[in-house]
Amino acid sequence: MPEHAHDPRDAGTSELRTPPVQDWDSWPFAGDVEPKALRDPEPEPNRDGEGDRPCEACGKPDAEYIWTSAHWRLQAFPASGLPFVAILEPRAHVDGPRDLSDAMLAEMGVMLARVERAVLSIDGIERVHILRYGEGAAHLHWWFMARPTGLRQVASGFAMIWDDVLPTTPQETWRANVATVAAAMAASSH
Ligand SMILES: [Zn+2]
Repeated sequence: MPEHAHDPRDAGTSELRTPPVQDWDSWPFAGDVEPKALRDPEPEPNRDGEGDRPCEACGKPDAEYIWTSAHWRLQAFPASGLPFVAILEPRAHVDGPRDLSDAMLAEMGVMLARVERAVLSIDGIERVHILRYGEGAAHLHWWFMARPTGLRQVASGFAMIWDDVLPTTPQETWRANVATVAAAMAASSH
């Protein structure tokens, strides 16, 4: 960390704030909360595809993806709370958008829109949350999370937690949603 950067640990746990998350419409839990103590600086662990950890994405066959092209692959997650969750990866092992050529970045913009449209083709989906963290794997992956119409509490930042809180989407519904997205992706290729 550069010398001039603000390190929140300098402030100490007593200065940590507790925003009134329990009053937020999107907060998934009831009851009081208090912030955890910040741990001392610790080594950054290798992510998938770093150091001696093999890259899971590079090792997966196309058969594990619901749609593939020359440069991109789309994988649906197993059924969870939200009706559909997927990740989009380039075939090339790159860590972030910074590592892609301008031509691939232009393709990436088109792909983000194509996948968003495909997920919106599922009945009852109001919005698609598109996220990129890159904390667990060193192979660039974009998250797409389907937020159902009317489920206002699932809007925005806590959607990923709600995905684990909501009852699991029935297998039949989930399979139909995956098929809808795969068909929309195939149709948009032409
Ligand atoms: Zn990789």
